[in-house]
Amino acid sequence: MNEYDDYEPFGPDYDYGDSLQFAHPGGNSALRAATKNNPRNLPCPTCGSANRLTPADVALGYQCDSCADRMERGFDF
Ligand SMILES: [Zn+2]
Repeated sequence: MNEYDDYEPFGPDYDYGDSLQFAHPGGNSALRAATKNNPRNLPCPTCGSANRLTPADVALGYQCDSCADRMERGFDF
């Protein structure tokens, strides 16, 4: 009934970078998939958005998809 409780499309953590990812469905994200043993519960070191990275992502020095996407595009808002 409350499955959308965690979904805040325009909440304080809303990142317009996420919407840009719909431009390339299928995705080319390098991030690890979140699992029970590798939860996506860590903030991005670049933009500071919460719950963007898994411990494996951080160990590999990754940043969130939004930041990676901005870097790939060669511009930053
Ligand atoms: Zn980020």
